[in-house]
Amino acid sequence: MSDRLTKSQQRVLDHLKQATSPVAAQELYLALRSEGNGVGLATVYRSLDLLKREGLVQARLLPNGESVYSMMQHDRHHLTCVQCGKILPIDACPVHHLEEKLSVSHQFKIHYHVLEFFGLCLDCQVAGT
Ligand SMILES: [Zn+2]
Ligand SMILES: [Zn+2]
Repeated sequence: MSDRLTKSQQRVLDHLKQATSPVAAQELYLALRSEGNGVGLATVYRSLDLLKREGLVQARLLPNGESVYSMMQHDRHHLTCVQCGKILPIDACPVHHLEEKLSVSHQFKIHYHVLEFFGLCLDCQVAGT
């Protein structure tokens, strides 16, 4: 599958593989540039867009409106604290069967789904009282 990728797409992908947390396009751009790989920001966006359509990479929209990118991870869901931005992963997928059902009923090849919960983490709840 990777043979079809261009050099810059491959570099973006390699970076996301090593990343321990989701990365913004701007950060990717700076990281690639610091490695001496002169990839333009527009190319980074284009690469991310293509990788997303290929189902290799997934984007998440943060509460601040910024998109962050990570390798496709199935059944990874999150609790996001709107106060401090902390992200707590949820291991179980409560909608796994729904995904299977939808892919059959709508003849839709589902790459992934997003299920997120927003609110306040324990620390922020305590700080707010
Ligand atoms: Zn799920
Ligand atoms: Zn918090």
